[in-house]
Amino acid sequence: MPKVLVPTVCPYCAAGCGFYIAVEKERATGIEYMPEHPANEGSLCSKGNAALEILYHQDRLRHPLKRKGDGWAGISWEEALDLITRSLSGALKKHGPDSLGFLASSKCTNEENYLIEKMARLLGSRNIDNCARLCHAPSVVGLNRTLGAAGMTNPIPDLANSKCIFIIGSNLAETHPVLSRWIHRAKDSGAVVIVADPRLTHTAWMADIFLQLRPGTDVALLNGMAQVIIREGLTDREYISKWTRGYGDLAKAVRECTPEKVAEITGIPAGDIVRAARAYAISPASVVLYSMGITQHSTGTDNVQAVANLALICGHLGKPGSGVMPLRGQNNVQGACDMGALAEFYPGYRKAEDPETAKFFISAWGASSLSAGRGLTAMEMIDAAAKGKIKAMYIVGEDPANSDPKSHHTRDALENLEFLVVQDIFMTATAQLADLVLPASAWAEKEGTYTSTERRVQWSNKAIEPPEEAKPDLEIVCSVARRLGLEFDYPDAASVLAEINRLVPQYGGITRERLNGTGLVWPCPNQDHPGTPILHSQGFKLAEGRASIVPVMFRPAAEEASWEYPFILTTGRVTVHHNAGSMTRRSPSLIEREPDIFVEISTSDAARLKVAEGDEVVIATPRGETAATARLTDRVKRGVVFMPFHFPGTNILTSDVTDPEARIPEFKVSACKIARRY
Ligand code: SF4
Repeated sequence: MPKVLVPTVCPYCAAGCGFYIAVEKERATGIEYMPEHPANEGSLCSKGNAALEILYHQDRLRHPLKRKGDGWAGISWEEALDLITRSLSGALKKHGPDSLGFLASSKCTNEENYLIEKMARLLGSRNIDNCARLCHAPSVVGLNRTLGAAGMTNPIPDLANSKCIFIIGSNLAETHPVLSRWIHRAKDSGAVVIVADPRLTHTAWMADIFLQLRPGTDVALLNGMAQVIIREGLTDREYISKWTRGYGDLAKAVRECTPEKVAEITGIPAGDIVRAARAYAISPASVVLYSMGITQHSTGTDNVQAVANLALICGHLGKPGSGVMPLRGQNNVQGACDMGALAEFYPGYRKAEDPETAKFFISAWGASSLSAGRGLTAMEMIDAAAKGKIKAMYIVGEDPANSDPKSHHTRDALENLEFLVVQDIFMTATAQLADLVLPASAWAEKEGTYTSTERRVQWSNKAIEPPEEAKPDLEIVCSVARRLGLEFDYPDAASVLAEINRLVPQYGGITRERLNGTGLVWPCPNQDHPGTPILHSQGFKLAEGRASIVPVMFRPAAEEASWEYPFILTTGRVTVHHNAGSMTRRSPSLIEREPDIFVEISTSDAARLKVAEGDEVVIATPRGETAATARLTDRVKRGVVFMPFHFPGTNILTSDVTDPEARIPEFKVSACKIARRY
């Protein structure tokens, strides 16, 4: 049988790189590059190159499993569906729809997320969320409020057109490695690169101006830059008057944020703040890239709004090389949010609190009623489970037992449920706590669309069959929904996409027939529309077409260093890690490069603590303690330590204080203490 090349989308980060899976005798035997792909032009990072390693891993789930004592018993799909039906309808009948919680998956396709959201809502539950809550919920809130759209404004290749690239809170050289090629291309054409990060990351090595700020002081820095720009008359007055509202309030609010005051808060020399502000403002095309380094804070929404303010006062939006680019983490975080797998939104970002939204979907879905209002977020569901208010949860492709902060609490809460069903490709830490585990298909074993961080919607093809009894999530969700009495007659992903085309305006023209190439970029309202690579070129989808400048003032992080906990722990990724590691910890070529949990400590702190390179140390916070190998480095400043969140130990430590609006936890700032283990 000849080799077949099946086009697909990388299952790791949201850069959305395309490649071909080589299939021979029904087995995925290799990767071939896709030079025609606009985002990656054929290149892949180490994670993309290793993507096939998980497909045939011995740990793949192959059969439905029911908890039996401390172990598991294999059961048939019929028995599994009976058990779900009994358990979910039992909880519904006894405790009402708000006793059910659903987590959709940023690893699953748009069609699957749409159906999980639809099932939850039609069962009457408002409690539906996805792991965007842990990464980019502040982008959804902050960018919708300021710019009227919660997406990256410009496509990835457009970075090459920028003359100033400001990267704040993102180590993209390791998290989204293919983006570096576009930044290098811009640098080759003379672009200035500014990087703000508490850590001297691989990304920071690309910087012309490096701003090493204290964790949690991003708003102070951004306001300080705005102050310099306004004071020195570097704003774009014409743009401000034509396209924005609220400039006067910002000018007043940041008047006192002088570089000297900001230097005291952030630890960045005042002169560097001025240099960065000038470089960003005077360049003809400036872009801000950001990631979880600014969103995973109790001030995450403020941070995002402060970024948008900077872009708006300089008019750096709506044209090539100029924009605001939130880099999403998992491959379909953008799509899961677009599909309404969020507590506060229905598909297409229709607000759950708006009575018109319920009316619209009652009619569209033929429902008799829908529960109005915002539901519980992922973290709130866990708290409600701990308190016995949520009785049953259906978790698809997420691993909150590892990825939530204060993860012991999450594990206790999940154990407190009357019924937990987990649908995944591996026996994750969360699945280990379940009553029922359903074997799902990996991305290459099913078809459907994924939406990358640049809003590119791409069709990913099925290349191989799932192992043994594993099934695509779409098929599983439809079977469960039908058992629960819902009309879920979708023969395939294309039939779901057709419904999405009708109900999600941004996806109106993104039909199956048009997705044979490298995708379309939303908003694409109709079949004749070419897609919209650059947002806001004709104004904003807000009142009078104007963006909102929303002043935000610096608030310290919830936890500060203290006598008892004298260090600030911040977390992140390294190149071969991805999220909480459910896939990358099982990928041999990746895990062998960074196999163990470690903590980076500054050389001066290490000397004080009498810790040497390679020593085992114990890191403790009020929530728990974890052992890790010490790495002595000058990448972090004195008083700051860094750990990757790829291993279960890290999130035992992290803070669960959340942003008041986006409800994202403050993973990036946890006060801790460290001692050498003897
Ligand atoms: Fe995959 Fe992201 Fe690497 Fe591209 S940059 S190959 S999408 S992990």
